[in-house]
Amino acid sequence: MTIWKTKRNIARCKEHAINEKSQYQNDGDSVYRLFYDTIKGGDYRAREANVHRLAEVSGNIIDQCVAQGVPFAREYGGMLDNRSFGGTQVQRTFYAAGQTGQQLLLGAYSALSRQIGLGRVQMFNRHEMLDLVKVDGKARGIIARNLITGEIERHSAHAVVIASGGYGNVYFLSTNAMGSNVTAGWKIHKQGALFANPCYVQIHPTCIPVHGTNQSKLTLMSESLRNSGRIWVPKKKEDAEAIRAGKLKPTQIAEEDRDYYLERRYPAFGNLVPRDVASRAAKERCDAGYGIEANDTNEGVYLDFSTEIQTKGRQAAYAKGNHNPTPEEITALGKQWLEEKYGNLFTMYQKITDENPYETPMKIYPAVHYTMGGVWVDYNLQSTIPGCFVAGEANFSDHGANRLGASALMQGLADGYFVLPYTISNYLADEIRTGKISTESPEFAEAEARVKDSISKFLNNNGTKSVDYFHKKLGLIMWNKVGMARNEKGLTEAIAEIAQLKEDFYKDVYVPGSADELNPELEKVLRVADFIELGQLMAMDALQRKESCGGHFREEYQDAEGETLRDDENFKFVGAWEYKGDDISKEELHKEELKYEEIKIAARNYK
Ligand SMILES: Cc1cc2nc3c(=O)[nH]c(=O)nc-3n(C[C@H](O)[C@H](O)[C@H](O)COP(=O)(O)OP(=O)(O)OC[C@H]3O[C@@H](n4cnc5c(N)ncnc54)[C@H](O)[C@@H]3O)c2cc1C
Repeated sequence: MTIWKTKRNIARCKEHAINEKSQYQNDGDSVYRLFYDTIKGGDYRAREANVHRLAEVSGNIIDQCVAQGVPFAREYGGMLDNRSFGGTQVQRTFYAAGQTGQQLLLGAYSALSRQIGLGRVQMFNRHEMLDLVKVDGKARGIIARNLITGEIERHSAHAVVIASGGYGNVYFLSTNAMGSNVTAGWKIHKQGALFANPCYVQIHPTCIPVHGTNQSKLTLMSESLRNSGRIWVPKKKEDAEAIRAGKLKPTQIAEEDRDYYLERRYPAFGNLVPRDVASRAAKERCDAGYGIEANDTNEGVYLDFSTEIQTKGRQAAYAKGNHNPTPEEITALGKQWLEEKYGNLFTMYQKITDENPYETPMKIYPAVHYTMGGVWVDYNLQSTIPGCFVAGEANFSDHGANRLGASALMQGLADGYFVLPYTISNYLADEIRTGKISTESPEFAEAEARVKDSISKFLNNNGTKSVDYFHKKLGLIMWNKVGMARNEKGLTEAIAEIAQLKEDFYKDVYVPGSADELNPELEKVLRVADFIELGQLMAMDALQRKESCGGHFREEYQDAEGETLRDDENFKFVGAWEYKGDDISKEELHKEELKYEEIKIAARNYK
């Protein structure tokens, strides 16, 4: 069951790439190294056994995708090609130009369609799951709304799998698809599933900067661009000011007046440090007054391809037998190389910003992108509700406090292809005599009544403000106080402000239309109601975690160079919250201690 037709999800994943431990480059990659990089990348806050399993099955994922017809890029020798992504010093990221996600989705969708065609799978497009039905403590079905007709439907099952994606849209602005939401995960949380590490959010360093208050979506420029682009801001504040005032162009800043701050601070990984590190470094420069974007906050840095144009242009000329190329020839060949590698991303950037990134550096800034937190699951991906499994970005499992690039798809596909088929069958083995589950039980009737009641309350609320009004307010609180940098004062304020926002929302939100039609405002109001509660829990989780790790940066806990300071003695645990009723501040924290047996826990260092 899915809200959007599967093929439409492509909007969400135009730039994907996917990891596997790869031996092709002879650069020493291995299962252990992928495992190690992922644990270190997550700042030692992920479950060791899960991550090792992920690294082990990573190779199978690529084979599976190739078998489904995904046209991965290949080298001249016919082997699959690889790129580097942040936080690694090997090339292990497989890609299909700048649209790996789209191609993966088409591969998976074709395979799914075949099963639909064989009558083995029934597909419910444009349906939204709005509650879970539990019978005798086990997940036995869901209540869903047909988004076209508004009809409320009961679906029974022996097991339920939630794979509803991440909750980045709690910030209103994010790189996620507009419809991405937390409702399915939040509804099962309310039914007893613990929600883990909600404060772990990934802010991606390479997005097009915000340009105004009416914007509803942010655009990601792929991390792969950091293979070729160098990130910088002017060394002199007056240059940054002149750029913002439109009096100076970046191409007029001399090489010695540019601060390639990632190369300066992290010589070993340079522009390919992990996302959390790169994002914080951009914020640090902009907070210090060196931002180059002329928006409200002056937040933006450059991603510059001029060095790569020269390097690759010269190589291309040599390859053609031209050992004395002119500067013009080098530049033309370098641009051609970039176009072959990243052409569609460059075109997209130009269409959005009206600037030509072959001629002038791209402007980028961090934006909310991915959520490492999610529904708590055990090693079998089962939540604390028996029979309710959670896969992909919706669960909390493998990334700890920060996810490395290209490993979301690795994890999602591992969960779906190589973990759940085994663990669900194990669960179902005990259900062999259960028989068909009726949808006529009181439990189904109660769950349906809950859904109908909440829809009717919103439609009859007679408020005065749109759903987006509240969503934007929530987003601002989250970005300013539960965003890239957090502190005790801000988080305490955020908790109170969100609790107040919740009250105002229920009093004053206005939802036009009716329940029995296509009604996008009604869809949104139900999702924003859940985002508000989740937002409060995120702030509570961030407040209790008195340390900095990965994407969770508490200003009080940093070293002299502004790097994260973990507290392994007191916080080496997964924080899993239990719902205790409408008042979110009453949720109870459970701690799952993290044990590292194969990896020596250390301070994360990319220098
Ligand atoms: C712009 C962008 C680029 C990215 N690039 C990369 C990359 O290069 N490499 C990488 O590894 N990762 C990348 N990611 C992350 C990765 O795409 C996601 O983590 C991944 O797609 C999550 O997959 P999923 O199946 O768990 O969830 P999703 O892909 O979000 O799918 C969730 C599905 O659940 C449905 N749904 C949600 N709620 C309900 C409900 N209540 N009822 C019914 N259906 C529901 C939705 O309609 C959707 O079909 C990128 C993400 C973005 C936004």
